[in-house]
Amino acid sequence: MSKLNTAALQAMDAAHYLHPFTDHKDLGARGTRIIERAEGVYLWDSEGNKVLDGMAGLWCVNIGYGRTELAEAAYKQMLKLPYYNSFFQCTNPPAIELAKAIAEVAPEHMNHVFFTGSGSESNDTVLRMVRRYWDLKGKPGKKTIISRVNGYHGSTVAGASLGGMSVMHEQGDLPIPGIVHIPQPYWYGEGGDMSPDEFGIWAAQQLEAKIQELGIDQVGAFIAEPIQGAGGVIIPPDTYWPEIKRILAKYDILLVIDEVICGFGRTGQWFASQHYDLKPDLMPIAKGMTSGYLPMGGVIVSDRVVETMVEHGGEFYHGYTYSGHPASAAVGLENLRIMRDEKIVEYVREEAAPYLQEKIAGLAEHRLVGEVRGVGLLGAIELVKDKATRERFPDKGTVGTLCRDLCVANGLVMRAVGDTMIMSPPLVISRSEIDELVDKAWKVLDQVAEQLG
Ligand code: PLP
Repeated sequence: MSKLNTAALQAMDAAHYLHPFTDHKDLGARGTRIIERAEGVYLWDSEGNKVLDGMAGLWCVNIGYGRTELAEAAYKQMLKLPYYNSFFQCTNPPAIELAKAIAEVAPEHMNHVFFTGSGSESNDTVLRMVRRYWDLKGKPGKKTIISRVNGYHGSTVAGASLGGMSVMHEQGDLPIPGIVHIPQPYWYGEGGDMSPDEFGIWAAQQLEAKIQELGIDQVGAFIAEPIQGAGGVIIPPDTYWPEIKRILAKYDILLVIDEVICGFGRTGQWFASQHYDLKPDLMPIAKGMTSGYLPMGGVIVSDRVVETMVEHGGEFYHGYTYSGHPASAAVGLENLRIMRDEKIVEYVREEAAPYLQEKIAGLAEHRLVGEVRGVGLLGAIELVKDKATRERFPDKGTVGTLCRDLCVANGLVMRAVGDTMIMSPPLVISRSEIDELVDKAWKVLDQVAEQLG
């Protein structure tokens, strides 16, 4: 425990620390939750409460907390070479080995990695690579990137513009020019009278309509999360990705699959692109790459993009001080070693995911629950006023926030996106921990129902 008590830490926090995605006016009344330590899938706060982390931090602690091997890898690397840059023909052994290790698990046609410091930086890199690629191809008009409403691609200017979160766009005149958005494949929320399959086709065809509206010679890339995470674990209907693939095959447009959440085992494959049989040109990654133990991101780049950039591009004037950071790379490498040696992706695919999906499906019986959906170790629970009509509660987000707060009070972290409860636990979660997660979720739903009367 910290020498300072919770109240003293909270006061200091409120006085000096500006948090991401936080209403600071709220902090005084509610107080910040101070997480002090963690082990496996559990967190302990500054009051000693034990909480099951159903979100793996922020979708990132894939191998769970407390793996001393990662701490040792960072320590040893910091003693040997804590930092050196990878600009100007320089490199370092852990970054080289990590690039190779990632290429080995990435789709076959993707064999190079550009390292960044985060998922947002990865998407800034994506934007610059797409523009550079089409310049080199002699088609400088092909600069527009098509993205989706309610997608999330990070918080920098490029990331937030590529993302389709209206609340982010409203703060700071986003998106920047050259990025347009089409509807998301969110059947439960927006499918109306269509069946999921019909809606999947309709949503995918919005891409074709937008390409035709803008002109093929204007569109450089389509970017999407394979499953929208921050938007509410939105899983496209089965018809969506095949139809997107058909459209992409018809037009000469790069496919960017944002694997920042889904990459490194979350769906039961190394990458969701393998789960959905997609052939991306660029894959931004981060989070599970180091299981969040140190910051790191990257873009996995297809052979065709590399060939153009390398053969015709010369120097790419782009990079970050921490691109290929040796200590982060050493942690990433150890993280991949553990995932491979302990067969964590296989564990997700064959054991944890089928069990979690079977258990959470039972929550659909609850009177507040309109739909439960999931893939791999991702799950979403839609809270509704009326199950039959899919009618929402008035004042969107109030019931979700109540549910989220009751989760914490009952020792469980689940996130609320409006009135959709979402989960993304560490990949190493055991059967009994899944039981605990689902039992707690059920109990909390009862408490919410009781409070709503
Ligand atoms: N892309 C996706 C799909 C994400 O979910 C996130 C973060 O949640 C990002 C990009 C941005 O990553 P970071 O927060 O590391 O900048």
